[in-house]
Amino acid sequence: MRWRGRPLPIRARLTLWYTGVLLATFVVISALSYSLLRHNLMADLDESLLAAAQVISDTTGTSAEPPGLDPERLLREILGSDFYDKVFRLLDSQGNPDQPSTSRGANALLLSIEARANVQHRRRTLETVRTPSGEVLRVLTMPVVRSGRLTHIVQVGMPTARMERTLFRFLEALLVLLPPAVLLATAGGAVIARAALRPVDEISAIARRITAEDLTRRIPQQGTYDELDRLTGTLNEMLTRLDAAFIELRRFAADAAHELRTPLTVLRGGLEVALRNPRSAAEYERVLRSSLEEVERLVRLSEDLLLFSRATAGLEGARASVDLAAVVSDVADIGRRLAQSVGVSIHVKDAMAATVVGDAGALRRALLNLVENAVKYTPPKGGVEISLATDDRWAVVAVTDTGPGIEPADVARVFEPFVRLDSARARETGGTGLGLSIAQAIVRAHGGTIDVQSTPGEGSTFTIRLPRS
Ligand code: ADP
Repeated sequence: MRWRGRPLPIRARLTLWYTGVLLATFVVISALSYSLLRHNLMADLDESLLAAAQVISDTTGTSAEPPGLDPERLLREILGSDFYDKVFRLLDSQGNPDQPSTSRGANALLLSIEARANVQHRRRTLETVRTPSGEVLRVLTMPVVRSGRLTHIVQVGMPTARMERTLFRFLEALLVLLPPAVLLATAGGAVIARAALRPVDEISAIARRITAEDLTRRIPQQGTYDELDRLTGTLNEMLTRLDAAFIELRRFAADAAHELRTPLTVLRGGLEVALRNPRSAAEYERVLRSSLEEVERLVRLSEDLLLFSRATAGLEGARASVDLAAVVSDVADIGRRLAQSVGVSIHVKDAMAATVVGDAGALRRALLNLVENAVKYTPPKGGVEISLATDDRWAVVAVTDTGPGIEPADVARVFEPFVRLDSARARETGGTGLGLSIAQAIVRAHGGTIDVQSTPGEGSTFTIRLPRS
């Protein structure tokens, strides 16, 4: 249901439905009671015709008929007011009228072909006929049988006008009742809809007051466990998640600012000291070199920040089929070059064919971050192993190293942004603390998971699980 191109508000729709259903019920009940009344009135009429015909039939050709008594008077006496506005006539077995036994107005009665045929079979006929004068009559034609022989035919008729008038009055009453009934239904429907939707309005009013600044507030639950209470619960859960996300976002912004400030402070300090007094060319070169290092650190940090925010925003690159084995061998090649310079060996173990749907570049980045870490944190002569296995749902890439391992208490933390377990060494190795966060965001955007098993002093295994296509 729409109004000026917009869907109607629920309140109006409920009211309309309610009114519609009630109106339909009213119409159906009216139609049923009208036809029931008509049926009953007709049955009453037929019954009174039968009673009259029975009296005529009983008094015809028997000694009960007092000689000289006009049959119309006789009937009037026996039937009383029931005889009112009935006409009748008596016919012989051939269907010829028997003049004395005919009431006034009986010339309106006719013997139809069907009635004549029924009489021959000793059956009575009830029919509704229209007289030449336009009057509608209900007519009963009944055989009179004496000792198994058809002696006469009785016809009794009665205008249906009175019955039609009663029906018309009934219809009139229904039509008069209809508008107030519809009005009442609409008003009732509107009141019910308003009452039913009031809690929804209240919930939305409270929800509107909760802004990003005030995410700790919750919508009070009524404890009725009904649909609205469940809706409130769902909204509150959403607020809790939003609140957590906002806190995380603020912390991330603060951490990022802090990460940017450190190299900038170092940079400024170095430059300020250098500018304080005139220096030799060699000294200037030294300052510039160390400044360049800090600038490179800043460039790396901003690149990682960009990668991280892109990965948390979801997959933006075109999704395509990615051959994971190719990604693994590609990353292993890059890792080998890195590993050679620090005396670490890399080898790929049983890379099985596996395809996933996603962004090949992003997946390469995620795996490269794990391999870079493994090489970075593994001491010389250590080894890094990359494996690719599959089961019926997942493609599993694991990167195992023989590095220092991670304390159990730190395992959950390493995926958080800017977390470096050994900050002195991390600064030396140039890590931004975002590598694992980026990998995790990318894997999650692909519907996968990433986790780590580690034994301190022995090594770690980082495992990426991606849904197979
Ligand atoms: P970073 O840029 O410092 O490497 P990451 O997010 O990649 O940042 O890693 C976070 C921290 O997790 C690292 O600083 C390091 O302490 C720890 N870590 C990561 N990979 C390994 C590993 N293979 N072995 C031991 N520690 C690791």
